[in-house]
Amino acid sequence: MNSLSNNMQSAAGVPVTSSLSAAPEPNGGETFDVAVIGAGPAGLTAGLYAARAGLRVAVFERLSPGGQLAQTERIENYPGFADGTGGFELAWSMKEQAERFGVRIINEEVSSLDLVSPVKRLDTPYGSYGARSVIVATGARPRKLGVPGEAELTGRGVSYCATCDGNFFRGKIVMVVGGGNTAAADAIYLSRLAERVILVHRRDKLRATPIYHEQLAQLENVSFMWSTEVRALHGEDGKLVSAQVEHLGDGALETVPVDGIFVAVGTQPNTEFLAGVLPLDAGGYIAASETGETSISGVFAAGDVRAKALRQVVTAVSDGAVCAEQAANYVAI
Ligand SMILES: Cc1cc2nc3c(=O)[nH]c(=O)nc-3n(C[C@H](O)[C@H](O)[C@H](O)COP(=O)(O)OP(=O)(O)OC[C@H]3O[C@@H](n4cnc5c(N)ncnc54)[C@H](O)[C@@H]3O)c2cc1C
Repeated sequence: MNSLSNNMQSAAGVPVTSSLSAAPEPNGGETFDVAVIGAGPAGLTAGLYAARAGLRVAVFERLSPGGQLAQTERIENYPGFADGTGGFELAWSMKEQAERFGVRIINEEVSSLDLVSPVKRLDTPYGSYGARSVIVATGARPRKLGVPGEAELTGRGVSYCATCDGNFFRGKIVMVVGGGNTAAADAIYLSRLAERVILVHRRDKLRATPIYHEQLAQLENVSFMWSTEVRALHGEDGKLVSAQVEHLGDGALETVPVDGIFVAVGTQPNTEFLAGVLPLDAGGYIAASETGETSISGVFAAGDVRAKALRQVVTAVSDGAVCAEQAANYVAI
C-alpha cells in the first residue's frame, strides 16, 4: 500500500489527510480520489499536483512510465535544461517526483470504464478500481508509414516531430512526408534549418490550407514530389541515408539521398477504449475545455489525447497541472 496519510501535504505544503483511505486488495478493489489514466508527462504531472493537494491518487500505465517522452532520445525545448536533456531521464525524474509525493503507479492497462456513477469504475485485465474523479492522459501516437526500415531508423534519421528534432538537421537534406497542415508547417519550419527540404505527397496537390501554399511557394530550398509515395528507407551504419520512393503515375522507383525524414501523416489518439464512453471528435481526440473538463462531470482530459493546437511536453505538463486542480475542486464538492 502506498498510504498517503503519513506525509501528504497540499500544494502549498500544508499537511492534510486523505479523504479516502480504503485498504488495498489484490487485483483492484481500491477506490481513489483521482485515477489518472496514462503515465506520460501529462498523467505524471496530474498525479503530482493531485497528490500534493492531499488526494489519494493512482496513475494507471499499460507500459512503463514516461509515455512518448521516454522514447525521445533528447529533448531540447523543455525549459530549464540549457543544454537539453535525455527524454528517458526527464520522464523518469517526473515519475520519481510523483512517487515521492505519494502517487501510486499501477502497471495495468485500463480497458473499460464506467463514468456515469458518482464513484467511477476503471477495469483492467487484473481487476476493477473505483475513483471519484478521472483524468484521461493516454496520449497519442504518430501514424507510421509502415515501410521497411522505418522502425529500425526511428531516432536515427526518421522523426515524427519537426519541432522536436529539426535542430538536429541543420544544413542537411530532409524529406517531409504528408500533404496536410502539419506536413506544410513542418516543411516551412525545416526550411529555416535544413539546406534542402523535399516534400513528398501521394496526391498532386496539398490538402493544407492556402496560406501554407503561398508560403511554401516562396521558399527556394523547398521542392515537391507529387503523386509519390515512400516505399522503403535505407540506412548505413545505423543512420538513414536514403528513401526509396515510387512515382505513382508510372510506377517508377527512385532512390533519394536524405539525412532525415519527417513523417507527418497524422497522429492517432489512444482513445479506442473510450468509444461510446466519452464523446470524441472526428479525429478521435477528446474535446475538453481550457481547464480540461469533458462533457462528463468529474472527468478531465490532459495532454496529447485532447483536441489542442500544440502537442508537446510543455503543454502536456501544463494540462496535467490544470486538470489536477479541477479534479481537486470536484472531489471537494
Ligand atoms: C519521437 C518523438 C519525439 C518527440 N520530441 C519532443 C520534444 O523534443 N519536445 C517536446 O516537447 N515534445 C516532443 N514530443 C511530443 C511529446 O513527447 C508529447 O507531446 C508528450 O509526451 C505528450 O504527453 P502525454 O502525457 O499527453 O502523452 P504520452 O506521452 O503519449 O503518454 C501517454 C501514456 O498513456 C499510456 N496509455 C495509453 N492508453 C492507456 C490505457 N488504456 N491504460 C493505461 N495507460 C495507457 C501510454 O502507454 C503512455 O505511457 C515527441 C514525440 C515523439 C513521438
